[in-house]
Amino acid sequence: MNLGRFPRLHFAHLPTPLEPLTNLTNELGGPNLYIKRDDQTGLATGGNKTRKLEFLMADAVEQGADTIITQGATQSNHCRQTAAIATKLGMKCEVLLENRTGSQDPDFTQSGNVFLDHMFGAGIRHYRGGTDMDAAMAEVGEEVKSNGGTPYIIPGGGSNPIGALGYVNCAVELLNQAGEHGLRIDHVVHATGSAGTQAGLVTGLDGTSSGVPVLGIGVNAPKEAQEEKVYDLACRTANKLGTGIDIKRERVVANCDYVGDGYGVPTDGMVEAVTMLSRLEAILLDPVYTGKGMAGLIDLTRKGHFSKDENVVFIHTGGSAGLFGYRGAFADTFAEVA
Ligand SMILES: *Cc1c(COP(=O)(O)O)cnc(C)c1O
Repeated sequence: MNLGRFPRLHFAHLPTPLEPLTNLTNELGGPNLYIKRDDQTGLATGGNKTRKLEFLMADAVEQGADTIITQGATQSNHCRQTAAIATKLGMKCEVLLENRTGSQDPDFTQSGNVFLDHMFGAGIRHYRGGTDMDAAMAEVGEEVKSNGGTPYIIPGGGSNPIGALGYVNCAVELLNQAGEHGLRIDHVVHATGSAGTQAGLVTGLDGTSSGVPVLGIGVNAPKEAQEEKVYDLACRTANKLGTGIDIKRERVVANCDYVGDGYGVPTDGMVEAVTMLSRLEAILLDPVYTGKGMAGLIDLTRKGHFSKDENVVFIHTGGSAGLFGYRGAFADTFAEVA
């Protein structure tokens, strides 16, 4: 696998640390839990989109773009990271935010990631849940062109074969770290949404013949649809890499039992997981992705899904800025403790 031939800009702090979750491991009684700190990618409070944007923004620069257009949910971490890097590169950024939960809580509509989008000077447009966001981006693209600009459209979550290269790179980085630490990784677990993270990881872990299984904990779609989305993107990513990596369908596994009532809607398991990680490990998860992903990991652990002597790496894909948009979801928990 040769990632070196793809244009890339370097602005993430890499490699991100790989740390043991000693207190959580003791609390749950095993397996041995580790966390890869992709919440510490350095840019604008960090997160997984930064790795994807290293490749996507290099492509945008090559194409002579001066305006980046992207979309996400109201509390999108992807939009926040995109707005930050566009600013750093001297480009304009138009972010299109879809209110998928319909919440009108001012924390949700104005604080957290939305506040940071403003901080980075992005143009922000709000849309109702259910809007065709790809069509909306195309419309904004036409508007930019008619004003003499050169737009570059990044799909939601930065999930296309270019963006997924960022997680092929993460897979290679993780295997190198495990090698240095003498750590045998039995499972990689993370939250999966727009699919680029898992597609890149599976492609990277298979392209290096590591055989390490990846479990994506879904935050949105049902299992079958999520796995198909990841598999399709993994095949296209492998194809882009062009090394004859054959992605096996059975290597793409998602568990979508922890979504709750829908994307971005809090669950009790999420609140418990976020609170456990903050109080046991002083690590901030997020309410939309890593909170539900960790809720899945904790529940599966309690149900004996992993053997006690296995080593499980949770990839912390970031998003803690979103906590400020979801303050209300934690009110009951905090009241109990007070
Ligand atoms: C976007 C995101 C994910 C999901 O990654 P995908 O590549 O979209 O599947 C996970 N965690 C956080 C914090 C995110 O912002």
